[in-house]
Amino acid sequence: MTCILAFKEGLKPDPYIDLVEWGNTYFRLTKESSVEPGVYRTSRTPYVEEILRELSPQSPTQEIVVIKPTQTGFTTLANIFLFAIAHLYAGPAMMAQPTDDMAKKHSKKKIGPSVRAVPCLKDIIKPTKSRDSGNTLLLKEFPGGSWTFTGSNSPASARSDSIRYLILDDYDGFVQDAGGEGAPGDLLKKRTDAFGSKRKIYINSTPTVKGVSHIEREWNESSQGYFNVPCPHCSEYQFFDFGGRDSDWGVRFTRDDDKQIIDIWYVCQHCHERIDEWQKTEMMIRGKYVHKFPNRKKRGFKINALYSPVGWLSWEQIMNEFVKAAGALKKGNSQPMKVWTNTRSADVWEEDGDQPEWNKLAARAEPYKILTVPMGGMLVTSGVDTQDNRLEVLVKAWGRGEENWTIYQGTLYGDPDQAAVWQQLDEILYRMYRHESGVDLRIVSMGIDTGGHKTQAVYNYCRQRGPIVFALKGASTPGKPILNRPTTQDVTYGGKTIKKGVQLWSIGTDIAKGTIYNRLKLNDVGPGYAHFPIGLDDEFYKQLTAEKLVTSYDKQGFPVQKWIKTRERNDVLDEDIYCYAAALKSGMQRMDWDNMSKSLKDKGEQQLLDPTHSQKTNKRQTAIKSKWMA
Ligand SMILES: [Zn+2]
Repeated sequence: MTCILAFKEGLKPDPYIDLVEWGNTYFRLTKESSVEPGVYRTSRTPYVEEILRELSPQSPTQEIVVIKPTQTGFTTLANIFLFAIAHLYAGPAMMAQPTDDMAKKHSKKKIGPSVRAVPCLKDIIKPTKSRDSGNTLLLKEFPGGSWTFTGSNSPASARSDSIRYLILDDYDGFVQDAGGEGAPGDLLKKRTDAFGSKRKIYINSTPTVKGVSHIEREWNESSQGYFNVPCPHCSEYQFFDFGGRDSDWGVRFTRDDDKQIIDIWYVCQHCHERIDEWQKTEMMIRGKYVHKFPNRKKRGFKINALYSPVGWLSWEQIMNEFVKAAGALKKGNSQPMKVWTNTRSADVWEEDGDQPEWNKLAARAEPYKILTVPMGGMLVTSGVDTQDNRLEVLVKAWGRGEENWTIYQGTLYGDPDQAAVWQQLDEILYRMYRHESGVDLRIVSMGIDTGGHKTQAVYNYCRQRGPIVFALKGASTPGKPILNRPTTQDVTYGGKTIKKGVQLWSIGTDIAKGTIYNRLKLNDVGPGYAHFPIGLDDEFYKQLTAEKLVTSYDKQGFPVQKWIKTRERNDVLDEDIYCYAAALKSGMQRMDWDNMSKSLKDKGEQQLLDPTHSQKTNKRQTAIKSKWMA
């Protein structure tokens, strides 16, 4: 039947060609999308061939999972899939990307020019601009099917039609939950059910963080195929991997006195002979995927940046980046190594440090009494988290190098719209905290969160007790400083609006969390170390460590990070941030700790201390005085 039709229609191609043949016959690379525009050859990136074969309708495989480094030609692969569908295997197709904006950009910048470069699509896909073409940036219709481009952040209900071909592109950048309906990838997959064994789901991503990476989860369920290449000396197949300092195979290089790489090569895992980079072109042509679980139906494929074709990303560039990242890691900055691991090694990054272990913190609690301040702590601040039915309060003391001690954490029950709960907070605000020297200390700065529904109540409390007590609002903008310039807010009080009644301080929570978590990792008592008194319950430590930093990559390969909750409640972490902001606002970073420490010792049991005052008098300060002093 099909043969007769093909014969009759003369020029129509054989519908049974697979996607490798389709790509090599019909696909063209554009100037916009490739450094090598023109005719496409899968032999340039041989690792895509088996993947294209599985994406072909001739293969019974329904799910294909690819873990990839950046800059290795996988965007092209998704395009070939979509184009061949429109040309020969019409059906409803959807390409989902992390955001709507990315989907629009992809359609405009990658799909549009590519369609114009591929002659066989000319009459099938109408230009976006033509009227009644059925084609917009996010929807392109063609006889028998369509392409829909969408972002994981748009509500899944927007279009609920069935999908035969689904691409989840850049999967680790997908939002965790689309409007409370669940993981967007899982929702989209369900929409392919109607097509049964005729569906194709192609999932690809550069991996991100272990445990929260979407692609890692898919990979773990897959056949886990690694692209193996034969050694030019002993012909043994192996996965190009970096090896390591202690392994007798992998990438090796020598550097000159200025630490520049002057020679780089690969040592075979089997015969330990030297393999040069130029040799990989031939090796890759003879390459094949070796699957760890060959019987699994979900097919998994993996390469790393060492497979980047000669002329694209060189081994030297890759290892120069590694050397730089290793240097940063030694200085405590793990970000470059995280990026390198994800985008070059195509491995998940183990974010061990970013979520401290709560039980280790609990185990190191020290025998000082709650509501008392050990010798090193000299500046007492408080952070308050506002909830609809309660206030959560943390009090901490700070010392040299921002070493810090938790002094008190508690819950004050009551509706913040009523006076009672604020009276309880007054007791914490105005009480004395006995320092180990015998001196009584007071809270010098208290920051109260205005988020949620009780903003006016918080403003009222702050307005009456400023400037020691201040209103704050957390902002999870990456790179935003912890303490920012305040803005002046109107407050409503006793039925009247008071113009410019209170200052609102914006707090950059992302940097604060990073700082706090890096410090919780410290093992040695000293600058930055956090002390806890015996007697705090497990819930305190669980809430303090309730978040995790997650990294994903945008289309350009730039990392995008955000903090996510791994436990239901994170109040203590918020309070800790507010305490820290309060300490910064009180001038902790300009504090003369030597002077304060000496004064505390000198004045002994008779003295009260007001560090706000000591800060004001600063260097000429000779004696510590306090307005609360009797
Ligand atoms: Zn060999």
